[in-house]
Amino acid sequence: MTQNNAPNDNVVVRFAPSPTGFLHIGGARTALFNWLYAKAKGGKFVLRIEDTDRERNSAEAVEAILDGLRWLELNWDGDPVSQYNRADRHRQVADELLATGNAYRCYLTQPELAAMREAAEEEKRSFRVVSPWRDRDPSEAPEDAPFVIRLRAPKEGQTIIKDHVQGEVTYANKDLDDLIILRSDGSPTYNLAVVVDDHDMGVTHVIRGVDHLTNAARQTQIYQLMGWQVPRWAHVPLIHGSDGAKLSKRHGALRAEAYRELGYLPVAMRNYLVRLGWSHGDDEVFSTDQLVEWFEIDAINKAPARFDIQKLEAINAHWIRNSDDDELFRRIEALLPYIPEGQRILKAFAAGAADKLRAFIPAMKERSKTLLDFLEGAKFLWAEHPLVYDDKAAKLLDGPTRELLGKLALNLQELPDWAAEPLEAEIRDFAETEGLKLGKIAQPLRAALTGTTVSPSIFDVMAVLGKDETLERLKQATAT
Ligand code: GLU
Repeated sequence: MTQNNAPNDNVVVRFAPSPTGFLHIGGARTALFNWLYAKAKGGKFVLRIEDTDRERNSAEAVEAILDGLRWLELNWDGDPVSQYNRADRHRQVADELLATGNAYRCYLTQPELAAMREAAEEEKRSFRVVSPWRDRDPSEAPEDAPFVIRLRAPKEGQTIIKDHVQGEVTYANKDLDDLIILRSDGSPTYNLAVVVDDHDMGVTHVIRGVDHLTNAARQTQIYQLMGWQVPRWAHVPLIHGSDGAKLSKRHGALRAEAYRELGYLPVAMRNYLVRLGWSHGDDEVFSTDQLVEWFEIDAINKAPARFDIQKLEAINAHWIRNSDDDELFRRIEALLPYIPEGQRILKAFAAGAADKLRAFIPAMKERSKTLLDFLEGAKFLWAEHPLVYDDKAAKLLDGPTRELLGKLALNLQELPDWAAEPLEAEIRDFAETEGLKLGKIAQPLRAALTGTTVSPSIFDVMAVLGKDETLERLKQATAT
């Protein structure tokens, strides 16, 4: 950690979640912007867990946030810093501010504060604490009375935030009351802790939600009174739902890793998240390398972004089409522990279905928007006997058709080479001999082999199922 005042040319950014729950979409986007900026500038991306609220924080929440970041592949530098563990250092800075006269002990009592609030209400002006202890001689302090430490904030002039996203935002100092930096129990307040930590961690750029903009003004005052370099600010807009209302569960605004369970790829998720607020011409699809090359905080839009699950789906479909087959297979396998039927599929995988799915990936790629689509579309591969037919499939398998399939099965038995191409040649031949269109064979065949009426090419299906399993299913279909 650096503790000097020299401007830091090496970019250090941070993600500073409060572990009160999971990593939500907004947090994931903030983390991504920071991570990208660090990568783009060859800087560092550090993590600070703002765990000072002991009642609302939990170890599980920290783990959930780290898990979400890991899934998104937003790797951080060094170990996460616990804000709570740094309380002594925060107190030390509060003492320093006291010693330099930039902070003071305030003995205002609750009843006195309540009276001030009431007076403000009566006079219809906004409530601001004006502590008499700002100018009072400390020797007049009541003995053993509890006190807080307040910043002796400037009363004249302005505090200006030069924000990379929001532009120049000006606060009149007379509107900012003297911030409490240490509570009466000696615990540091949020704004003090953030400033001390960001300073000590050498943070050069603070990229976070616009809901922290007013905090930036307060924090600037602390930086200035400590004589520390103020970081550069970038306060990013909120995320709204596609209807323009603030994002909520109703919009499908789930915790970030919920998208893993829905079968989204991290690369697609990053691609989608970055577009929530940042743009590069009309481009929609970005590889991570392109993002790293092009990402700039100045290009983040000021207007709230809109979350649109259909767009996410389209981007995911793009990345599925453009992913390597082995990579997709690995992702599907890694997804299984997170989905309800995963354990059953893992068992089937161990019994041979894994190889079948791997072989089936090329046939499924174009028709899958999510990894769950692969599992859904390929589940006939590990279906147990007897195969269950859906209504449409059952309807196709009438008496004459079963007879036809029985005849075909006899031909297939003789086929020496079991692969998509010879299978296609054989079945086309069969259709011709029977004077039927190919579809008249392929559709019932599909019903018999998959239990449904939709699947990729039936020849691929047969090749992947293998000769024994295909013939077994045909036997069952013709026997019913
Ligand atoms: N802990 C704050 C939050 O989760 C972020 C603080 C910051 O980025 O400065 O909203």
